Amino acid sequence: MSDTEFDIIRRYFTRQQPDREDVITGIGDDAALLQMPAGMELVVSMDTLVDGVHFPRGTAAAAIGHKALAVNLSDLAAMGAEPAWATLSLTLPEADANWLAGFSQAFFKLADRFGVQLVGGDTTQGPLSITVQAHGFVPAGKSLRRRGAQVGDHIYVTGTLGGAGLALQLAGEAGGELQQRLDYPQPRIDAGQTLRGIASAAIDISDGLLADLGHLLEHDQLGAALSIDDLPRSAAFAETVKQGGADVRSQYYDLPLSAGDDYELCFTVPEALRGQLASVRQQLSCACTRIGIVEQQAGIRCHMADGKRYAMTARGYRHFGASPHG
Ligand code: ADP
Ligand code: MG
Repeated sequence: MSDTEFDIIRRYFTRQQPDREDVITGIGDDAALLQMPAGMELVVSMDTLVDGVHFPRGTAAAAIGHKALAVNLSDLAAMGAEPAWATLSLTLPEADANWLAGFSQAFFKLADRFGVQLVGGDTTQGPLSITVQAHGFVPAGKSLRRRGAQVGDHIYVTGTLGGAGLALQLAGEAGGELQQRLDYPQPRIDAGQTLRGIASAAIDISDGLLADLGHLLEHDQLGAALSIDDLPRSAAFAETVKQGGADVRSQYYDLPLSAGDDYELCFTVPEALRGQLASVRQQLSCACTRIGIVEQQAGIRCHMADGKRYAMTARGYRHFGASPHG
C-alpha cells in the first residue's frame, strides 16, 4: 500500500463512531474480526458500481457514496435482515480530496442511520469503481426469501415506482424529487424486518418490477395478475409524465413496470396474514400497496382498471441484455 492510499484510508474512512461492540477489530488490521450474535444467521450482500455503467459519468460523489451502500442495504432489507457491518473496495483514478470528502460523508451518513460500521476494505488506483459488501443478521430460520409464494397470495410493493427510471430517462432534466429517487434510494430496512413472519416471499426491485417479481415467481413456477392502475406512483412522477406529451400513456404504465433503480420491496402475503400486515403497516416509514395476486399460470398478466389486458411496450431490464445492473 502506498502512502497516498494509507492517507486516504486514515483521512476519509477511519472513524471512531459508531463503535459497535460486535466489532473486535475493524479497519487497521489485516482483516476485520467480528462477533456474531447467538441464534442469528449472517446475511451477506455485495454490489459493484462502475462509472458510466451503473451511474452516469459526472454523478455527484455524494450520490455515489450513498448509492453504493444503499443498494446493498436494500438487499439486506429484502432478506428481512438487520444491517451491522460493511466493507468497501474503492478503485479511484486519482486522490481527489473534494470527491473523497463528498463520497465518504454521504456513505457514513447512511451508515450511521442504520448503525452500520465500516470494518474494512481495499483502496486501489484505476478506473472509478466502487464495491460494497454489507453484512446483517436475521434470527435463524426467519429470513425472507425469493421462494415461498403460493397461489392466491397478494402481491405488494413498498413506496412508489418509476421515479428513478423517469429521472434516468430525463438525464439530469428531472425535478428535484425525481432526481433524489435516482441518486438517493432509501433502503426499506424497517419494512423488511417487520415483514418477517408475514410475507411469504420478498425481493428488492433493482431491475424493474416485472423482472424482479418474475424472479420471485419463477422459483415456484408461478405467475401473477397485476392491476397496473394500482401501481403506486409519486405525485411528481404523475405530474412529470403528464407534461411529457406523446408517449405519456406508455410511460405512465411502463416505467413503474419495467424501470429499475427504485429499490423498493416487492413481497407476497397469504390471505390469512393480511390482517397482520394491516396491523403493522402504519408503523412503517413507507406505504405498502397491494398491486395484484399470485396465480398458477406462469407469466405476469397486466390489467387496467377497466379490466382490459395491457400489452407491454417495454420490457424490464434483462441481465446481460440492455441492463447495466449486475
Ligand atoms: P492489506 O495490505 O493487509 O490487505 P491494506 O493495506 O489493504 O491491508 O488495508 C489496511 C487496512 O485498511 C485494512 O484494515 C483494510 O481493511 C482497511 N482499508 C483499506 N481500504 C479501505 C477502504 N477503502 N475503506 C475502509 N477500510 C479500508
Ligand atoms: Mg488489502
